[in-house]
Order: sequence, then C-alpha cells, then structure tokens
Amino acid sequence: MEEIRVRIAPSPSGNLHVGTARTALFNYLFAKKNNGKFVLRIEDTDAERTSQAYIDNIFDSLKALGLNWDEGPDVGGPYGPYTQSERFDIYPKYVQELLDKGFAYECFCTPEELEAEKEEATKNKQAYVYSKKCENLTEAEKEKLRAEGRKPAIRFSVSKAQKAFHDSPIIHFEDLVKGDLHQDTSLIGDFVIMKSNGAPTYNFAVVIDDMLMKISHIIRGEDHISNTFKQILIYEALGAEVPKFGHLGMILAPDRSKLSKRHGATAVSEFVEKGYLTEALINFVALLGWSPSDSNEIKSLEEIAQDFRIHEVSSSNSIFEYDKLNWMNGQYIKKMDIKALTKLAKPFLAKYDLSELTEEQLEKVIAATREPITVLSDLTNDVAYFFGKDIVYEEGVKEANIDTEQAQTILKYFDSQLDSYDFDNEEKLHEQLADFRAYFKEQGIKPKVTMWTVRAALTGRTHGADMGVILEVLGKDKVKYRIEKAIV
Ligand code: GLU
Repeated sequence: MEEIRVRIAPSPSGNLHVGTARTALFNYLFAKKNNGKFVLRIEDTDAERTSQAYIDNIFDSLKALGLNWDEGPDVGGPYGPYTQSERFDIYPKYVQELLDKGFAYECFCTPEELEAEKEEATKNKQAYVYSKKCENLTEAEKEKLRAEGRKPAIRFSVSKAQKAFHDSPIIHFEDLVKGDLHQDTSLIGDFVIMKSNGAPTYNFAVVIDDMLMKISHIIRGEDHISNTFKQILIYEALGAEVPKFGHLGMILAPDRSKLSKRHGATAVSEFVEKGYLTEALINFVALLGWSPSDSNEIKSLEEIAQDFRIHEVSSSNSIFEYDKLNWMNGQYIKKMDIKALTKLAKPFLAKYDLSELTEEQLEKVIAATREPITVLSDLTNDVAYFFGKDIVYEEGVKEANIDTEQAQTILKYFDSQLDSYDFDNEEKLHEQLADFRAYFKEQGIKPKVTMWTVRAALTGRTHGADMGVILEVLGKDKVKYRIEKAIV
C-alpha cells in the first residue's frame, strides 16, 4: 500500500487559530492511525500578510499541543524546502507544462478590463466568469500586446481540462468525510495560476507542493471545497494522481456565527496565556467533529489517536462551547501532576514575591486551591492571601464575620491559644483545631461558623484553601499578626 502522507499548510498571516489546530490534529491523528507521515508546510506566498512572529507562533503552538511534524521546517525531509517562499523556482516548470499541453494560456487583460467584465456581469445579475478573451489569441496578437508593455498572467483553461478528463461538466469526487460532492465546472472561470509578476497563486502552488510532497490525503476545512474542484483538474492536467480529500465542517461560536475574537480567545497561544492547559485544549478540539467510541470524553492525544477514524468524523459544523472547554480544563487542572501544575501556574503568580514560600509550600498552596478553578489565571486571585503581611477583605466580610461580638470572642480565644499550637506538626495542629472548635460548639456555636471567623481574619474571605494548609503556610507569626489585626 502506498504510504499515507498528510499535511497541514498554514498561511502565517496570524497566530495559530484553534480551527487550524483542529485541522492539524485530524491530519496528525490520521497519520498516526495509519503509520503515515504528518508534514508541515508554511504557505507564506502572501508576503505582505506574512510575519516571522506568526511563523514562530505556529511552530510553538503546534509543538505545545503535541502535534509534532515528521517533515517540515525545522526537521527537514526528502521533499523540501517546506516553506513556499523558498520554492518559487519550482513552479514555472509546471506552468510551462500546462502551457505546452494546452491547459493554460497567457492572459493580457488589465485589471481595468477585468473590472469592466465584472461590472457587466453584476449589471446583468450574472455570476462572474472570466470571458476567456485571451484563450485563443494568435502569436501575432500576443506579440502586439507584449510590445505595448503588457506582462501576461497565466490562466488555467477549466473547460479544456474538463473535456479532456470528464464526460460531463459536472464533476464529482468522493469526500472522506462528506461523501459524494460535485460541482458544475461551467461555473468556474478560467482562474489565474501565475500572476503577471511570476508569483504562483494558492490553487496552483498547493497542487504542485502536494504533488511533489507525495501527499496522499488532504484533510482541511469545508471552506476549501470549491478550490478542490479546481485542484482536481490541475492534477489531471499534469497527469498526476489525484489525492483523496476530506473536508471538515466549520467551527462556529455558540451563537452559530463564525468563531471570532468577539466571542473570546481564538488563537492557541491566547488560550495558553489565559491559563488553559494544552492537554485540555487539544482534547477539547478533538471533540469538535470527532466522538470517542466510549462515553469518556477525557482522553489523551495517544488515546484519541488509537480511537480515531476519519470516516466517523462528523460532516456538520461544530460549536465551540467555551463553557465545556472551561469544565474540561478544570478536570485537567484537578488531575495534573502537582509539580508540573505548579510550574505552569507560576506565570500567573508574577505579581507575588514567590520567595516568601518554599517550592514545597507553593505546591501545597496550588494543591489546595486548584479546585474548583477552571483556568490557571483564576489562581492569581485565589492564592492572594498566602502572600504579603496584610490582606484585603472581600466586600461584606469584615462586617459579617469579623466585627460581630461573637466573632471577636472567637478571635480573642483563638489568639490566646495560638502560642500552644504546634505549627510544625500537622497531625497535632489538626487535633488542636478540633479542640478549639469543640470549645465553641459546647457554647452552641457551629464549628463551621467558628472556622469561618478564623478564615475571614486570615484570608479576608469566607471560602478558600483548607485551613490546615493556610495555617501551615502562613506560619505562626503571620497568623498571629492577622488575627490580632482583626481584633478591635
Ligand atoms: N494555506 C491554506 C490555508 O491556510 C491551506 C489550505 C489547504 O489546506 O489547502 O487555508
């Protein structure tokens, strides 16, 4: 069997979008499942919109998600270079081949002439299709136009290719995801494959690259379906084998419009900056079109790769449910190895003096606050009271939990007992706290209320980490300071 080779071909005109990450993932999974190769190609022919920062972002994001490519920039491979701008001298040969075979022709039309054609079509309420005015120019006519200083673009003759390889203008292909797809090629105008400045267009360069890189399966978004018909004709005109195509439904926002910045983060790096774990993100993205064979949606990349089948991918659009991503991220945060999680949490704690705590204490703090957060950035606020000397009371806490007569009695008693508390012995400290609660329980105060009071004095809040951890990490001096500050 021929080798399975797939690719992701991002255009670096922005940071890696979650939609592109989903396409990359499905290609990666298809390759893994079939012992194939996953190729990365950078389609940077649009120099004006390309930037090195975006290219770096694409590399970093794919790597962070675990979507390592087998061939491509950085790692090389037998069919490189894998960056389109380094491949410019490859394309003219194939343009010439199409010209020689009569499947392409020089077009001398000026932008103004083309614009006039378009306006005419609009006026007649017709879909615009190029007039083919230049298809049958004689050599003499071409010479004359050249002498006027006009430089030709090269157009592909859709009708000639269609007639040579298909009985009907309506051509079909069997999509791996969507089944039979067809298009009336008489509605496709003769499109430009090489601009007058010698730059290849997307539809042409992509075919040449996929052909030379021996790509066997092209999995991409359904917004490319109309391009696929053009590309099939180019493969046929070149006498090349047509790869298999699979088109994925689009990813929509919860309001069913196109996912965009106004809905929230859209680039992988933005999600990471907000405190999403790449493991959670890739798991979530996999579920945009794919469902596992069992009911457990939480799956590692390896588990997904085992279970993935391209023909089971949904052909309809998927909704990007931010709420579900939050839930899933929370699940990953809850289960993650504490050392790894602490490392990931640190950038979100930059405003604190981390040297106040030992690494072990910081891990304890993270372990005690990782639930119920959904994004790591929640930690910034949730760990605040572990740092510095003073605390900020949340609204209403002082009035309700500190300034009452009962609260003051509790705090004074706690303060009187503090010296005898053994902060270095966790077990002992727990017993001592139990005695402290029991003392007030006998007086009819619920243990919960007793502890709320102490918690409020130490943290300024009524909810948060386990009291044992708070006492242990703050240490006796800070505890005493905050309790005494709360006593009026
Ligand atoms: N550079 C194209 C894009 O980013 C690639 C499309 C394709 O996969 O052929 O949309």
